[in-house]
Amino acid sequence: MSSPVYLDYAATTPVDPRVAEVMSRHLTLDGTFANPASRSHMPGWLAEQAVENARRQVADLINADPREIVWTSGATEADNLALIGYLRANRERGRHLVTSTIEHKAVIDTAKALESEGFDVTWLAPDAGGRTSPERLAAAMRPDTQLVSLMAVNNELGSINDISALAEVAHAHGAVMHVDAAQAVGRIPLDVRDQDIDLMSLSGHKVYGPKGIGALFVKRSPELRLQALIHGGGHERGMRSGTLATHQIAGMGEAFALAAQEGAADQTRIGVLRDRLLAGLADIPGVHHNTDTATAVPNILNLGFDGVDGESLLMALRDIALSTGSACNSASVEPSYVLKGIGVPRRLALASLRLSLGRFTSDEDIERAVSALRHALMGLRERAAP
Ligand SMILES: *Cc1c(COP(=O)(O)O)cnc(C)c1O
Repeated sequence: MSSPVYLDYAATTPVDPRVAEVMSRHLTLDGTFANPASRSHMPGWLAEQAVENARRQVADLINADPREIVWTSGATEADNLALIGYLRANRERGRHLVTSTIEHKAVIDTAKALESEGFDVTWLAPDAGGRTSPERLAAAMRPDTQLVSLMAVNNELGSINDISALAEVAHAHGAVMHVDAAQAVGRIPLDVRDQDIDLMSLSGHKVYGPKGIGALFVKRSPELRLQALIHGGGHERGMRSGTLATHQIAGMGEAFALAAQEGAADQTRIGVLRDRLLAGLADIPGVHHNTDTATAVPNILNLGFDGVDGESLLMALRDIALSTGSACNSASVEPSYVLKGIGVPRRLALASLRLSLGRFTSDEDIERAVSALRHALMGLRERAAP
């Protein structure tokens, strides 16, 4: 039996072999393994150099200064640090946060935690394409609004927000702009200067780097102060203590350098594969595009299917590794809150699949996926027919 076709790149990507090779050089005695905070010996300096090299690689991809990159354990922690760290540090100035109903759980649950701490949250509804409109954001802004948190690319739909326009609205009302860019790195151009972003969350494992490492971009500005969530040795300019994970950081740096070099070409090739997948299903009735394919990133495709039940569909598709809704809530049978958020009816949401493609997706993978999907849909519908 051949291994399943992996079409769940939005949940996590495999580590690129070139990244794994770099990581393996930062672990053992003959490698760069020392504590980057050890200032008293050569192995420590070399580890520090490796960390600073990676910091520059990550900064370069988003046009930031390396001093604006704070290492975290992932985008989840970066989102927590951005929201909690900024709002707690500025609570005398105001207690209002604006975000959307289809953010990643790392933002939604953090905003809920802040609500229980006495902060006030406005939850914006997206349009049917999964985007937050600058006009709606403007209408939600208040004199006490401190922070706007909106994602660049949605992880279930692939929809792209107009981050520059949203940041402009936030700033016009005196608020700070946070962007969760975990799904955007290597998929769309990011430029924190050009787009005027204050805080940006990044992850290693969505872009062929390792899991367990991420970063928060924190714009260098006297007004932008964050309260640390994790206290200890005062690493990362006091914003995030803890011994730096040299091998993870070097891996994330290499992954971001590769994304800068190859991300655009990857996306072009993936777009062709996505179109071939859609063409392979074009003659099958009752296939709904939850993803607005004309405007979304090409690597994420969310489809709903009439006349089948989601569980049976998933069972019939065991040869393909994919997600229903998002992996984070696949433990429960509730329809995805993101699909609900853009108005997909409950029944259709429960019979929806997210297919996400990546750097290592081949022509053969797509052929196998099309044939498995056709087979599953026709089989299930035949059985369901009276
Ligand atoms: C995966 C993801 C996260 C969480 O990132 P981790 O590095 O796994 O903590 C946050 N936001 C979005 C949009 C994501 O896709």
